[in-house]
Amino acid sequence: MAASKSKNQSSLGLHKVIMVGSGGVGKSALTLQFMYDEFVEDYEPTKADSYRKKVVLDGDEVQIDILDTAGQEDYAAIRDNYFRSGEGFLLVFSITEHESFTATSEFREQILRVKAEDDTIPLLVVGNKSDLEGHRQVTSDEARRKAEEWGVQYVETSAKTRANVDKVFFDLMREVGGKKKAENKEGRKDGERKKKRCCIL
Ligand code: GDP
Ligand code: MG
Repeated sequence: MAASKSKNQSSLGLHKVIMVGSGGVGKSALTLQFMYDEFVEDYEPTKADSYRKKVVLDGDEVQIDILDTAGQEDYAAIRDNYFRSGEGFLLVFSITEHESFTATSEFREQILRVKAEDDTIPLLVVGNKSDLEGHRQVTSDEARRKAEEWGVQYVETSAKTRANVDKVFFDLMREVGGKKKAENKEGRKDGERKKKRCCIL
């Protein structure tokens, strides 16, 4: 009982976020800017890594666990495992590469498939490299329309200037935290049933 309570509390305070998107859009640069306040220009493109940081979210101390994915997610089994472990997703494209925007639809499909049992999946669409306005290939309108269709927020960021970097991580954590709190209240009875079933097994 005590063990399950503390487990529950720690999962409430630890938000698992996954960076998803095509190669080169700035998933690592956004992660490293959020973690260490620096712009890293040449992060190893094939390296996936996870990071953890304590932050204060609306007065509560919580931890964010960020999984920065890389090329391995081409292997469906690895990708599905990554996605399954995620509680929230930053679906990143680069505003300078239209193909990376098109690819977000495919990534979203994959997330929905893996998370089929969830009716809401905390997710933000992130248009990165907003400092490269002169090279823009995706208009804000086009991206916003897509996000509206999906019922999610669209935010433009720059890992270089740090514009909106905190915003996307904090807004996502708020969504993840809100969802967990709602489920915890609603699903308490359901949770009890599940616990009993586990005991029998
Ligand atoms: P990933 O493959 O999605 O992890 O992309 P990276 O984070 O490795 O970034 C790919 C390239 O784009 C690197 O050269 C970064 O320095 C650059 N980059 C990433 N984000 C930005 C940004 O917001 N603005 C600019 N100008 N360059 C960026
Ligand atoms: Mg990377």
